[in-house]
Amino acid sequence: MNEVEELFQRIKKMRNGEEVICNHCKKGVMIPVGDCKTTKCFRCDNCGTRLNMD
Ligand SMILES: [Zn+2]
Repeated sequence: MNEVEELFQRIKKMRNGEEVICNHCKKGVMIPVGDCKTTKCFRCDNCGTRLNMD
C-alpha cells in the first residue's frame, strides 16, 4: 500500500469513528475535533499531533 492510499484508509476509519493509532507516537489514538463525520481536524490524545484535511 502506498502512502496516499494508507492515509486515505486511515481517514476513512476515523470518519467511521474507528480507533486509529497515531502515526507519530504510535501510542495515542486520533480523536476528532468535533463530529468525526464532518470535522477537518483530528488530534492525537497522547502527543497532540494534528491531522488536518483542508
Ligand atoms: Zn501521537
